[in-house]
Amino acid sequence: MTDRLTRHAELAERYLPDDLLDRLRERAAVYDRENRFFDEDLAELAERGYLHLFVPADRGGPGLSLDEVSHLQQRLATALAVNMHLMCTGVAKAMADRGDHSLDGIFDEALAGEIFAFGISEPSNDWVMQDSKTVATPQDDGGYTLRGVKIFTSLSPVWTRLIAHGRDDTDPDDPMLVYGFLERDTPGITVSDRWDVMGMRASQSRATILEDVRMRPERVVRRIPPGRVPDLLTFAITSNFQLLIGSVYAGVARRALELGAAGLKARTSAKSGATYAEVPESRARLADAHLEYLSVPAQLEACCRDFDDLLDHGARWPLLLVAARLNASTAARRAAEAALMCTGGSGFDNGHELSRLYRDATAGLFHPPSADAARPMFAAALLDD
Ligand SMILES: Cc1cc2nc3c(=O)[nH]c(=O)nc-3n(C[C@H](O)[C@H](O)[C@H](O)COP(=O)(O)OP(=O)(O)OC[C@H]3O[C@@H](n4cnc5c(N)ncnc54)[C@H](O)[C@@H]3O)c2cc1C
Repeated sequence: MTDRLTRHAELAERYLPDDLLDRLRERAAVYDRENRFFDEDLAELAERGYLHLFVPADRGGPGLSLDEVSHLQQRLATALAVNMHLMCTGVAKAMADRGDHSLDGIFDEALAGEIFAFGISEPSNDWVMQDSKTVATPQDDGGYTLRGVKIFTSLSPVWTRLIAHGRDDTDPDDPMLVYGFLERDTPGITVSDRWDVMGMRASQSRATILEDVRMRPERVVRRIPPGRVPDLLTFAITSNFQLLIGSVYAGVARRALELGAAGLKARTSAKSGATYAEVPESRARLADAHLEYLSVPAQLEACCRDFDDLLDHGARWPLLLVAARLNASTAARRAAEAALMCTGGSGFDNGHELSRLYRDATAGLFHPPSADAARPMFAAALLDD
């Protein structure tokens, strides 16, 4: 039997060989500078089958586990946008693994080339998945129309299927959140022309305006009351979201540290007559950042493997998942800052990869729940009965 480390190495070689990573890094600088979508990268990744990673073997895919995809996403680094497609397919796999095959159609669609995106975030909706400002109006055929604004829809130039939710207040005493998929060619969908942000620019996560957009009845996946209501779909979304987003930032952290180390070796100190790689203070800075980073992939891996093994952490799951993602994004920002101090001023140049990674890492401040939003949950787990 192949051991796990060998398996991860084989998958890395198959899906993300070194020469591909080199090309992606070169193009990342161009996409960032020109503020444009990563079309060529996506085409290469799609050709390698990267968009089918989660499709189970009995549906014609490689059937990777969440842990395996997490490792690949960490290797890719700053793979925030493709993450959204992987997450949607990962949700379908997580549900199938737990006996719910209602989303199996996603596998066939992914194999047929459809691209899935995630349309959950809305302006000032800090309930995120537990409520929605988008109005869902029931239709006679069992479908809905959605009216509202979804912010930060990554993959906006190319997605063809959008998982979205809205609130049906037809019965004010019994409101319902409606989850399902929208198809790109449905009338009423407009993508904002505004996207000029600090980091993660290639993700082109533009706002999506929905004006009475039809969600066909067969695309409606769930009707759930608002609030904290346990449900397999929202659990699968939360798990895949937190762990795969965490993987992206773990990848940013690791790459930043590599660049920091290269920076120390490349710079010489006139005072010490050696490279900064031999200056104790510089080594200590890199060592501390490395030490801090190393717990991040371990934490992600522990969560991913428990999730793959169908372990039931019950009420502890949200704590574990959110902690893994928050720690990863914190590590990414700290590693990027430490690495910048290692490269010195050259890393500050907009053409330097680290300059982009530093800006990309800041996007980690905004994914839900933010550290502030999560704090009550961590306190309550210890303090409240
Ligand atoms: C790089 C990146 C990629 C992301 N990708 C996704 C994704 O694919 N899917 C997803 O669901 N979430 C995505 N998110 C959203 C993210 O996870 C958070 O939910 C979001 O950043 C919440 O930010 P906030 O709480 O600061 O927004 P809020 O303070 O609640 O809202 C403010 C934001 O909404 C925008 N906004 C407000 N009104 C409008 C309007 N009428 N029209 C357009 N925009 C308006 C503002 O410009 C501002 O950016 C992404 C975030 C980032 C940073």
